[in-house]
Amino acid sequence: MTAPSVLVLNSGSSSVKYELVEPDSGVSLAHGIVERVVDYGEALKQVFAELPDLDGLVAVGHRVVHGGNRLYGPTLLDDDTIAIIEELAPLAPLHNPPALLGIAEARKALPDLPHIAVFDTAFFHDLPAAAAEYAIDRDIAERWHIRRYGFHGTSHRYVSEQAAAFLDRPIGELNQIVLHLGNGASASAVRGGRAVDTSMGLTPMEGLVMGTRSGDIDPGIMFYLWRTAQMSVEDIETMLNRRAGVYGLGGETDFRELHKRIDGGDEQARLAYEVYIHRLRKYIGGYLAVLGSTDVITFTAGVGENDAAVRRDALAGLNGLGIELDDGLNTAKSHDARRISAEGSPVQVLVIPTNEELAIARSCLALCDGR
Ligand code: ADP
Repeated sequence: MTAPSVLVLNSGSSSVKYELVEPDSGVSLAHGIVERVVDYGEALKQVFAELPDLDGLVAVGHRVVHGGNRLYGPTLLDDDTIAIIEELAPLAPLHNPPALLGIAEARKALPDLPHIAVFDTAFFHDLPAAAAEYAIDRDIAERWHIRRYGFHGTSHRYVSEQAAAFLDRPIGELNQIVLHLGNGASASAVRGGRAVDTSMGLTPMEGLVMGTRSGDIDPGIMFYLWRTAQMSVEDIETMLNRRAGVYGLGGETDFRELHKRIDGGDEQARLAYEVYIHRLRKYIGGYLAVLGSTDVITFTAGVGENDAAVRRDALAGLNGLGIELDDGLNTAKSHDARRISAEGSPVQVLVIPTNEELAIARSCLALCDGR
């Protein structure tokens, strides 16, 4: 019998990423990306043209960025749940509307299969109130659903589970810090498998310095730019989302290029790197305090999995806190889950490749099977 497979779709503002996965074995049967998408119907036609036969296909999993307060578990998509995601569009204007277009076309193409949404916010749904709430007017926060939702949750959950499995320890007894450092970047503190803090907030703009996003800034900057520099709300939003972060400071988003420029004496690139590392260290220190102590710190995503210098500089000089890297392990090239802390370091430092598609596929199969 053919093993069950799930088609995972990630419909973004200009691309549709797809992966056909066998959740049980973790085998990826096909994956790809359709870029410069204008018409989502056409994009899905292209996806189906590129896919092998779909004999074992049992469900279509859709990555949806924002689930708001009402949607958090893997959610069967029907007219009612789709209407809720539509209502959430103002909270995630860049992300939820294209996901909905992808969902609509995929449901037309595969009407007999269950379509399931898995939300980036889900893992952080039950953050403790102290971490989830902003210190703003309570009535306004409630009326407008303003709280810290957190994002990259599928990755933080998956990586924290994989870290426990790698260490062969029950997740329930581990304190963990997970650093998802890709183009977007976020940190989380996880106690016993449950997220207790995360760096992204109402939107994915809060927290760490990212490829093109500023992360934390003084909200006063926005009023100042609006009033004094006469920038519009749209200009400010675009600047903070697309022309800030490592790119805004150093003119580059890719860390490989950034290092080359630093090596060539580019002071702007150096500043960008230093601001990035400084912010990252503040979050690591903050989460150590939130947790009291941590058993494991895990790096994941493009930068976290590949950039040994970022890992070294993020944790340099923290021996007094029980964090000691092994230089050889840190710089060894590998695509596997691995330990990079020194033998005897009280805190284990790991690199674990994230796999959001597999995590989404497993959530979908679990929902289909009632597992
Ligand atoms: P996304 O958030 O788009 O999913 P990824 O997790 O794929 O991003 O991370 C992309 C980033 O990873 C790139 O912008 C680049 O800075 C970084 N990256 C990828 N490979 C390497 C590498 N070998 N060394 C350093 N950085 C890398």
